[in-house]
Amino acid sequence: MKRTVLVVGLLAGCGGSGGGAGPDASVTTPSDNPARAVTATDLAFDLAGKTATATLTLAPSEKAGAGFESGDLVVTAVTDGSGAAIEFASAKTADSTPADVRSRLTLGVPASADPVTVTIAYKWANHESFTGISKDGYTFNWPYYCGNMFPCHSDPAEGTTFTLALANAPAGLVSVFPATIAQPAPAYQLAWTIGAYTELPLGTTTAGTTVSLFYRTGELAAATKGGAHLVAAFDWLERTIGPYGFGGKVGGASVPWPDGFAGGMEHHPFWHVAAGDFADENTQVHEAAHGWYGDGIRIGCWEDFVLSEGTVSYLAGRALDVVAPSVGAASWTEYARELRGVAGTDLTWPDSCGTVDVLKDNLYTNAPYMRGAFFYRAVALKVGADKLDAALHAFYVAKKGKSAHMADMLPTIQASTGFDATACAQAWLRSTTIPAPETPCD
Ligand SMILES: [Zn+2]
Repeated sequence: MKRTVLVVGLLAGCGGSGGGAGPDASVTTPSDNPARAVTATDLAFDLAGKTATATLTLAPSEKAGAGFESGDLVVTAVTDGSGAAIEFASAKTADSTPADVRSRLTLGVPASADPVTVTIAYKWANHESFTGISKDGYTFNWPYYCGNMFPCHSDPAEGTTFTLALANAPAGLVSVFPATIAQPAPAYQLAWTIGAYTELPLGTTTAGTTVSLFYRTGELAAATKGGAHLVAAFDWLERTIGPYGFGGKVGGASVPWPDGFAGGMEHHPFWHVAAGDFADENTQVHEAAHGWYGDGIRIGCWEDFVLSEGTVSYLAGRALDVVAPSVGAASWTEYARELRGVAGTDLTWPDSCGTVDVLKDNLYTNAPYMRGAFFYRAVALKVGADKLDAALHAFYVAKKGKSAHMADMLPTIQASTGFDATACAQAWLRSTTIPAPETPCD
């Protein structure tokens, strides 16, 4: 039905604010251009003053204009690469509510055969309940709240590089964030967390990636337990699925999410894990594996959520099966328990693209995770886990740094293993009944 980020066009005078081009400037009227992608996002935040600048590189476009989700940001100026003012307008979108302000920022930028750089200065506000920059020091904008942090496109298929600078963080605390994300990433990947962190170095993989966990007071034991096989699992992912794309240093950080919120978030290269799950090896490896699927390969639309979560849930179990068999076995026992809680009507792999709202349309449940994991498990039991590893490697190599659809996975499995998994995928991912787990595909 509805993706909530709707383009409402230019509503001049509807809560908008005019930009500051002078009378001698060549003024281009702001207009939207949703197809004009953001290819680079360079962010500098002042954490004390709650201001920021976003320098965005826009893809070439035969059509003028550009538009971004801008949440409740208050834009104060927009300039081009030479410092000249660019006209802008900001209007609330149709799905905006008093509690969840959604705005669309449009710019008066010309059509261009070359990339265009714009710098947007703005004020931002704190957001709780996983909708932006928390007062508690961490950020979280999945699935479509990036506009509360920076002008963005939340479309999970779109990839942008990032740089991030944080000024005036609270004294005495440690900021965990990537200064650079050089491989195109979805907007929800970018995050930071600031706290009383201590780094626990865990080791270095064969490829030279250093792996750490960042824990807070009293969490050393949890970090030690959660990271017991993390280097080995990361190494297995690099050697089996392919080269990691988000830098040479990675790790997980414990975050003080509100009580009742568990799990983690794939903020590569420094993923976040709820304090209560920091000791859980499966959660750490799950978030690590998103460096390959979900982040390293972006989903083509929210309906492909299973390509991210199902694949990663499988890979976490598979990697742990190899590097820590008892932990792997415990993961599959836990998965089977979680699968029993999945309702037949929960969506896993909807047969559409761009119409399902991941939060509102019953897709963000355990179904994509567990039905997805056991689909791959059934394929592995049919063809051999090593053969499925080869398929997941081939798919990754072909799609790294790009977006992909779950539908693309089936021909890859067939090409790598000789097995047509279409019927098995239908049974596991699209039926309303749940097949018996730990059973090979027919
Ligand atoms: Zn996940």
